[in-house]
Amino acid sequence: MSAPTFQYVDAHCHLDLFPDFTSVARASQESETAVLSMTTTPRAWLRNLELAHEFNLVDIALGLHPQLVATHFNELPLWESLLGEARFVGEVGLDASPRFFGSFDKQKEVFEFVLRNCATQGQKVLSVHSVRAGKPVLDMVEAFLKPSDCKVILHWFTGSRSEAIRAVALGCYFSINQQMLQTKHHEEMLCALPEDRLLTESDGPFTVCGGMPCQPSSIRDTVAGLATLRGMSQDSMRLSICENYQQLVG
Ligand code: MN
Repeated sequence: MSAPTFQYVDAHCHLDLFPDFTSVARASQESETAVLSMTTTPRAWLRNLELAHEFNLVDIALGLHPQLVATHFNELPLWESLLGEARFVGEVGLDASPRFFGSFDKQKEVFEFVLRNCATQGQKVLSVHSVRAGKPVLDMVEAFLKPSDCKVILHWFTGSRSEAIRAVALGCYFSINQQMLQTKHHEEMLCALPEDRLLTESDGPFTVCGGMPCQPSSIRDTVAGLATLRGMSQDSMRLSICENYQQLVG
């Protein structure tokens, strides 16, 4: 089978949290969007693989979401047992926002376990959550994933410009969504990222595009917004993102 071709990239979404996985996946496929779809618990992963089977542009990542660590910590052995079959890992990471801070120590324990196991197996691509936890996420990636040939995509990264520069030095990629482009606050950081580390994401259904949950098929607007911010043509931005994703998963 030849490599699938795509025109857009959604490097972080949750197809299984839309009311109908198949119709969203079909629209992604029709819009020629490569999709990296997260799971939030390892128990969901096998079912997601089945649902994605007919879509050659959809890959499923094996996750244990930091916001669910408090309640799903006992699924960590299941996550470990599935890792050998998974090329993509996510959603994983840390969340230090007030609502989830109670489980922060447990989250760190899980994330260290995830990073160490990925480093040992090698060749994984991880999509990483870092809400209010840019520094500890980077500290842990540096300590437990390096040196290995695994790649990290920082999803919805909202750290400072200097943290972003540190992440670049660690080899991280960045998946940018529509909501990040709507706040002036992130402009400086977004402009400082090297072109060869940029990706797009919808994080659907958790983000809103035109009053509806963002979908992979609405990534075109995100590419346009990012192109405008960085003073590039929409098409060269789009091509760079496709090349970056190809590089990452290729
Ligand atoms: Mn997410």
